[in-house]
Amino acid sequence: MINKVSGCLFDSIAELIAPDRCRDCGLPTEENLMGICRTCLAKVRGLGTPQCQKCGIPLINSAGEGHTCGACIRNPPKWDKAISVVSYDKPVTGLLHRLKYNADTTVLPALKTIVEPFRKSLELSFDLVIPVPLHIERLRKRGLNQAVYLAELLFPDRPEIIEPSLLRRTRKTAPQTGLDGIERRKNLRGAFMIDDRYTISGKQVCVVDDVFTTGTTLNECSRVLRRAGAESIYVITVARVAINH
Ligand SMILES: [Zn+2]
Ligand SMILES: [Zn+2]
Repeated sequence: MINKVSGCLFDSIAELIAPDRCRDCGLPTEENLMGICRTCLAKVRGLGTPQCQKCGIPLINSAGEGHTCGACIRNPPKWDKAISVVSYDKPVTGLLHRLKYNADTTVLPALKTIVEPFRKSLELSFDLVIPVPLHIERLRKRGLNQAVYLAELLFPDRPEIIEPSLLRRTRKTAPQTGLDGIERRKNLRGAFMIDDRYTISGKQVCVVDDVFTTGTTLNECSRVLRRAGAESIYVITVARVAINH
């Protein structure tokens, strides 16, 4: 806890003293590369093509476009399409970790630099953008929900459609690590609720999170939104683990 707090404080002070330092390696950045140096930015990897048209996992080259991976055929996701900006590797892993667990918002300019080319190429329009919610106790402990900040990075021109209160995490769930597919789904059943002040029916929605790992949490959010009548559901994560679990 002490480490977490002091780390965060140190980062904030470092940012005040040297706002032009790379948030990964600490070296000076160029003016046009906000928050990340050219060397660290060059390490950021895309996911490549072709990808599964449902979950975005990279497929072997010979598969061509428009294919669905085995996992999505066996258990069709409740979303229409999941898109990830980059592969979940360094330096993105470190930047996202600091945002999520240290509430270190000084990494946001670096993440903005990384998502910006993707954001500009995104030719989709949504009625609602929904960050995956944290349980209130976890939110209090961490100090922020990273998904809300990332939604703001991805949709900076449409703050009015970002709805962090639309989905609510109704109960605390055990960590997903070490659980198999069935256990993961069971663990999350009924964990999300829609605030009934919102109308979902007929809406084109986009669910945002930091990392696509197994997709179970995103699928459970999508299930609830689908049941409430969402017309289309996209999932956008900043990073994706490039193998299916
Ligand atoms: Zn760097
Ligand atoms: Zn798939």
